[in-house]
Amino acid sequence: MSEPRNDNRSRIPVIIGIVFLVAILGVAVFFAIQAFNTLPDYQRETQATPTPTPAYGSAMAVTRDPNVPTPAPELKRGSVSERVKELQTRLNALGYYTGTIDGQFYEGTENAVKAFQAANGLTADGIVGDQTEARLWSDDAVPASEAPATPTPTPLVANASVPTLSGVLRNGSSGDEVVTLQKQLISLGYLLSSADGKFGPATLNAVKAFQQVNGLTADGEVGQMTWTALFSGNALPKPTPIPLQDLDTSIARPYVRADGLPLVVNKKNPLPDGYQTLQLVNMNTYCDTMIVTIKHGDTLAEREAVDALMVMLQAAHADGITSWQISAAYRTVEYQQQLMNDKVSELMRKNGLSQEKAKQAARNTVADPGCSEHHLGTCFDITVPNTDQFKGTSQHRWLLDNCWDYGFILRYPEDKQSITGITPEAWHYRWVGLPHSTIMRDENLCLEEYVQRYGTPQ
Ligand SMILES: [Zn+2]
Repeated sequence: MSEPRNDNRSRIPVIIGIVFLVAILGVAVFFAIQAFNTLPDYQRETQATPTPTPAYGSAMAVTRDPNVPTPAPELKRGSVSERVKELQTRLNALGYYTGTIDGQFYEGTENAVKAFQAANGLTADGIVGDQTEARLWSDDAVPASEAPATPTPTPLVANASVPTLSGVLRNGSSGDEVVTLQKQLISLGYLLSSADGKFGPATLNAVKAFQQVNGLTADGEVGQMTWTALFSGNALPKPTPIPLQDLDTSIARPYVRADGLPLVVNKKNPLPDGYQTLQLVNMNTYCDTMIVTIKHGDTLAEREAVDALMVMLQAAHADGITSWQISAAYRTVEYQQQLMNDKVSELMRKNGLSQEKAKQAARNTVADPGCSEHHLGTCFDITVPNTDQFKGTSQHRWLLDNCWDYGFILRYPEDKQSITGITPEAWHYRWVGLPHSTIMRDENLCLEEYVQRYGTPQ
């Protein structure tokens, strides 16, 4: 009898120990669940659903670094990056996007995102935030083929009818169908010139821009798909450029005069003594190289001007005009001196001029040190990679038509040479800000004339 009693007594601490262990385990599990619930959604999503294994050669193949732990900033209209390329690739694989995989987030991509969101029970705002991002890359992402039917959008044009198209229209085509095409491009805001029935570079750019905005392959060729999209009544018109704010005059800028007008630097008005730049940035690292190539290393310019430049070039990309290069921006007085010395030696050597004559001749193309606008850091020599000739390129024409709306001016126009004293330069643009640039365009004034008309004597 005593044995069982002894046994029972000896079991009591063991039972207490087990109860204690179970209690500790319970608390631990409780806290583990709490910790799991407080993980960011993005992390939890990637843990819960493994990244799809890329199948080589499959349309579903996606490449994405699963080791990036922090949620990335949201993608929306205007975003231009490698992540946008990934997004477009994914949307394409899911059947929502048929446009070019170019890393540029405009209407076509936005519409694809909205369609994806609608089909996946998300707010269809066209912005890729954490929720959309997580859903997009999860195995539960509903592809377009399985999306619930959505009501057909109401056509913008009543009784829209698609005219017949006999064949593919492309650069070089002409005739009545080209006139029909051009009229439609004009009414949608893509083409500014008149409908002359000749499919040239302007029509080509307009078609590319239309295709890009409407989520089609931007090849500039008008086949049945592009044609139908143009006349379906659902065609998206050309987006208006992102408006730039007028200059905030509360900031003192060295490149702006006391009366608020752009500072003039030329032969008669050298850079003021002790001139100091405001905030130079290195364009080689500051600029998105998908938008613009920076020809030389350590190319500096004023941040504000570079920001305006990038807004402008993004708009050009949206218009289908790509391939941009910056050949020059900010220059020090010392560097300008070196350019001048080089030019004088070249003229003496090649043309057999005396040093005095060579110096005079050099001044036609090279500004005297201290007299170059490039000292301001607000000017850019804009070119096309791998070509010497800028004049006459589609990039040149685009700038002539559009630079003004982005605060830029063609600084040395052909019809103003007698006033500027500089041989016309198709590639040299200066950022002056709005509204100066649009006034100069509308009243056909070069900077010297503009300052003379509207400035107060300094
Ligand atoms: Zn220049």
